[in-house]
Amino acid sequence: MADHDVIVIGAGFTGLTAAIDLIGAGLDVIVVEARNRVGGRVESQYLPNGIRIDTGGQFLCRDMTNLMETARRHGARTVLSYVDGEQSYRPALSPGQGETIWNGVERLRERMRSLDLTDPALARLTVGEWIDRQTDMPSDVTGSFRRLVKGLWCRAPEEVALAYLVSNDRRITNIYPELEMFLGGTMHALAEKLAENLGDRLRLSAPATSITIMQDKVEVDIEGRALTASHVIIAVPPVMARRIEISPPLPAPLNRALAAWEPGCAIKLQIGYETPFWRDKGLNGSVMWSDPQGIYACDASHDDYFGIVVFLGGPLASEWHKRPQSELAGFVTAELAAAIGDQAGEPISICIRDWVNDAWSDGAYSDVITDLDATDAEAILLEGLPRLRFACSELSPSFPGYIEGAIVAGKQAAHAVLQDRA
Ligand SMILES: Cc1cc2nc3c(=O)[nH]c(=O)nc-3n(C[C@H](O)[C@H](O)[C@H](O)COP(=O)(O)OP(=O)(O)OC[C@H]3O[C@@H](n4cnc5c(N)ncnc54)[C@H](O)[C@@H]3O)c2cc1C
Repeated sequence: MADHDVIVIGAGFTGLTAAIDLIGAGLDVIVVEARNRVGGRVESQYLPNGIRIDTGGQFLCRDMTNLMETARRHGARTVLSYVDGEQSYRPALSPGQGETIWNGVERLRERMRSLDLTDPALARLTVGEWIDRQTDMPSDVTGSFRRLVKGLWCRAPEEVALAYLVSNDRRITNIYPELEMFLGGTMHALAEKLAENLGDRLRLSAPATSITIMQDKVEVDIEGRALTASHVIIAVPPVMARRIEISPPLPAPLNRALAAWEPGCAIKLQIGYETPFWRDKGLNGSVMWSDPQGIYACDASHDDYFGIVVFLGGPLASEWHKRPQSELAGFVTAELAAAIGDQAGEPISICIRDWVNDAWSDGAYSDVITDLDATDAEAILLEGLPRLRFACSELSPSFPGYIEGAIVAGKQAAHAVLQDRA
C-alpha cells in the first residue's frame, strides 16, 4: 500500500495547480518542494522601504484566462502597466523608424509561425540558420528578430531548434501585450495564496533526489526519507527533472526527450526612483535595445513605488553572470540614462536577480529545445510512464514558458492522473 495517492514534486504554479485540483477531486496528495518557499520561478523580495517586488515571473495579460481567473479568485489586485507616452530605442531611432522595424519583425515572426515543418528543407535547422535564409528582409529587421529570440527565449538563435521555436511560438496566442499588467501585491503572493490551499500537505526544503518505480507504487526519496504514492507528478522544468535519479532507468526515448533541453539565461533588475521622471518627458519608460542585443526595459511602477524593470536575456545574461553585480548595475543605469534621461543614473534602489545557473531551475524564463533531432521530445515527456507524469510550463499546450502555461500544465497533469486512476 502506498502512503499517499499522489506525490507532486515542485511547488511552482504547475505543481501547486496540479495538487489543488487533485485535492479537490478527493485525493490524498503531498507536495515536496526543494526550496524553502513556494512559487519556483515566481519569487519576490522586499526593498528596504518595505515595498515588495517580483524578482521572477510578474506580468500577465487578459488573454491568459486561467491566470486571470486564479488571481481574481484569490483577490489579487491587478495594476495596468504604464503605456502613455513614447517608446525609447537604443541606439536612438525616431518612433516612425522604430515602428517600421517592429512591424517587419512581426511579419518575420508570422512567417516563422506559418512554416510547414514537414518541408525537408527545414529539417535540422537552427533558428539562426533560418534567419540567415530570410535574405528578402532588411538587416535591421532580421537583427531585431535575433534580439527578440534572445530576449524572449533567452538563448542565441544559433542554438535554438527551429522546429521547437515554431511550435512554442504558435502556442503564445495573446492579442493584448504580454506585459499588459501585473499584480500589485506581487505574483509571488498569489503563489503563497495558492499554497494556503495545501495546508500541511506541503513540505518545504524537501528536494526529491531519487525515484523508484515499483509494481504497485512509486517511492520518492527526499534526502534519505522515503515517501510512496500510487502516482508521482514531476512538476519541475526538464533540466531539473533529469537531475532526479530514476530507477529502473527510464526508457531511452524518455531519456533523450529530457536531454533535449537547455535552460534559458536571464537576469532581472528592478531599479527604483524617487519619481517617474521619464513620464514628465513624454516617455512611457519602455526601452528597446538593438545594441547590445537581449536587453529590454519597461515601467513597473505601482502605488508608491516608481521603478523600471530591466530584463537581460540570452548570451548577454550569460556574460554578465560572470561579472560583478556592481558593474552590471553601473552598465544598466548608464544605458537607461542614455535612453530616458540622466536621472536614471541616480536610482534609490537596485535589486538584481540573476537566474543563470539558479540552484533549482538552472535558468529562466524557460528551458528551450536545442537538440535538432528532438522534434517529439514534448510529446514523449507528456506521455510519461503509467505512474509517472512530467509537467511544467514548458510542456503546456498554451502559453508555454509563462505562468499561464504552468497553470494549464498543472491542470493537464491532474486530469491525466485522474484518468489513469479511473
Ligand atoms: C525573471 C523571470 C521573469 C519571468 N517573467 C514572466 C512574466 O512576466 N510572466 C510570465 O507569465 N512568466 C514569466 N516568467 C516565467 C514563469 O515564471 C515560469 O514559466 C513559471 O513560473 C514556471 O512554473 P513551473 O511551475 O512550471 O516551474 P517552476 O516555477 O520552476 O517550479 C518548479 C519547482 O520545482 C522545484 N524543484 C526543482 N527540482 C526539485 C526537486 N528535485 N525536488 C523538489 N522540488 C524541486 C523548484 O524549486 C520550483 O519551485 C518569468 C520567469 C523568470 C525567472
